[in-house]
This record gives sequence, C-alpha cells and structure tokens, in this order.
Amino acid sequence: MEERRIRKIAFGINTVILAMVFGLMAFFKLCDVGFLVYFSIPTSFIYIVGYFLIAKHKMLMYVRMVFSWLTLYMCVTTVCLGYAYGFHLYCFSMIPISFITEYMAYKMHTNSIKAMYFSVGVTVLYLLSTGYVAYFGAVYQRDQKYAAVFWLFNAVTVLGFLTFYTNYLVRTIINSEEKLRQIALYDRLTGLYNRHYMTGFLGKTEEESRAHLAMADIDDFKKINDIYGHNAGDHVLKTVSEKMKSCCGSCTVSRWGGEEFLIFIPASETDPEGLIEGLRSSIASENVCYDGSEIAVTITAGIASRQQGQSIDKWIQSADSRLYEGKHSGKNRVVV
Ligand code: GH3
Ligand code: MG
Ligand code: MG
Repeated sequence: MEERRIRKIAFGINTVILAMVFGLMAFFKLCDVGFLVYFSIPTSFIYIVGYFLIAKHKMLMYVRMVFSWLTLYMCVTTVCLGYAYGFHLYCFSMIPISFITEYMAYKMHTNSIKAMYFSVGVTVLYLLSTGYVAYFGAVYQRDQKYAAVFWLFNAVTVLGFLTFYTNYLVRTIINSEEKLRQIALYDRLTGLYNRHYMTGFLGKTEEESRAHLAMADIDDFKKINDIYGHNAGDHVLKTVSEKMKSCCGSCTVSRWGGEEFLIFIPASETDPEGLIEGLRSSIASENVCYDGSEIAVTITAGIASRQQGQSIDKWIQSADSRLYEGKHSGKNRVVV
C-alpha cells in the first residue's frame, strides 16, 4: 500500500476516533463521571495533534502517540467505570493492531513501533487496570443501565476485529506461501516446473516403473538470439513450452536448463517415441511469430527408459547422450 493511501486511511480513522471521544465525553457528562470528562480534553487534543502529524508525514510518531494513548484511555475508563462497560476488551485488539502495523511498515520499508514491546506495555496496563477494579472496585459506582449497551458494542467491535484480523493474517500467509511455492518450483519465464522440482519429483518415482525420460533441446537457439534478439529468444522458449504442455499432457515437463527440457513420460504412456516425435513435428511445422518475424524452430530429443538398478543421474545421462547423438546426426530428430 502506498504512503498516500495509508495517510488517507489514518486521517479517516483519526476522525472516527475523535468523534467517538466527543460522543463519550458527552456520555461521561451525562453519567456525571467528572474525571473522564476532563480526561477527554487531553484525549481530543491528542487526536487533533494526530492530524498535524499525519499531514507532516510523521506516521511513526502518530502511531506511537495514538496507540499509547488509546491503551491508556481504555485502562483509565476501566478503572473509573469497571469491567461492565467492556472498555478493557480493546486491549485485546491493540496487540494484533500493533503487529499488523509492524508488518505493514516492514512491507513499506519504513520504521515501525516494536509490537512486542508495545504488547508487553498493553498487558501491564491491562493487568493494572483490571486488577485495580478487581481489588478496589470501580472508582465511580454509577447506575449500570447503559453498561449492557456499551458492553455489547465494545464486545462486538473487538470480536469482529479479531475475526477480520485473523482471517486477513491467514490469507496473507497462504498467499505468500503460494507465491514462494511458485518461485521455488516453477520456472518464471515458461511456467514449466524447474530443475529443482524435477530432481525431487524423479527421486520419488518407482525404479521398476516402465517410465521414460526425454531430454529435448532447441536447435541452434544461440543463432535465434543472435539474429532476432534475446526477447525473441524468450518468446520462442515460451511458445515451445506451451507446445510441450499441450502435446505432453500426461507427462511432467520441466525446463532443465537454458533451452533444455526434461520430460518424464509415465508408464501409462504406451508410445513415448510417438509422443515426442509428435511434439517435434508440431514444433517444426509451425514458425514462431515475433515482432513481424517468422522464426523457424526445431528441437532434438533423446529418450531413455530406466534400466534395472539405474540411478536417476545415470537415467538422465542416458537420455542426454541420445540427445547429443541426435545433435551430431543432423538435429531436428528424436533418438531412442
Ligand atoms: P544446439 O543446436 O547445439 O543446441 O545449439 P544452441 O545454439 O541451441 O546451443 P548453445 O548451448 O550454443 O546456446 C544456447 C543459448 O541459449 C545460449 C544462451 O544465451 C541461450 N539462452 C539460455 N537461456 C536463455 C533464456 O532464458 N533466454 C534466451 N533468450 N536465451 C537463453
Ligand atoms: Mg540448443
Ligand atoms: Mg543446450
């Protein structure tokens, strides 16, 4: 989120809180809780100063000031009125709010409050204020007829926030884990599995299964880069990868290196040679169009089945040596 938007949101929240402070001030006057009426004066002053800090881009100072004062405000109202109004419940949301703030600041590469220290402060103030009420009772023993309404409003607000926050947190974690998974397992340019994924995948395959490996390599790719440029080369890689995905739907296709692809053909595929031959001819039969140029692309591939007791490395090497046989005997062919 960019800074301008954060400042706009902070401006809105500051206004809502200031309006609530005035509303509560009127309520405290109605209930004749003198101290809280006077306490509302510096409180409103804090939020007026808040506007100034937001406008001056001093967000860290604003957050420190507002978070600390909010916590103090909750604790003072609790000491004055007791638990029945539910003001102390806000301490439970101040802790996650501080952690969100720290996380957002991290994402924006700016300084933040230290949520851990802040949470310890909130806990201490919570224990002191609720402990005081438990031991001595509320300072102002007022008619409790409004307490239920306040309790309900405050409890719903705090629980609603905690539900929203937890949902936001878990969604954020799932999204970023998914992004990391994509980065770790897939090749960015082609969207195929990368070498890291393929190595792990092959390690899990059964030795005695009658699967095949095909190592395919684009012919004279360096020339394509030299003649049409690197971007055209990238486009060719993407197009070839798309063809591999569509022609070898039952296979696991990976980008093994620059313009080399390792394809795992499962035992259920009865004609591996026909499959890769179909891929080769499909690539050779259609030029790749890029920026007005028609680029002729061919591949050469080597196919190997796994021999009894053969390691994965040796299996790959055997597909690779057939690929090179194909390269040395004229390219644009499949060698079994
Ligand atoms: P051969 O037919 O023998 O395979 O020859 P070749 O030119 O395809 O093979 P060579 O190994 O000589 O060159 C491969 C080239 O692939 C060199 C490298 O710059 C290019 N390359 C590797 N990765 C990428 C990439 O991600 N994008 C582009 N555009 N080029 C790449
Ligand atoms: Mg090549
Ligand atoms: Mg190569």
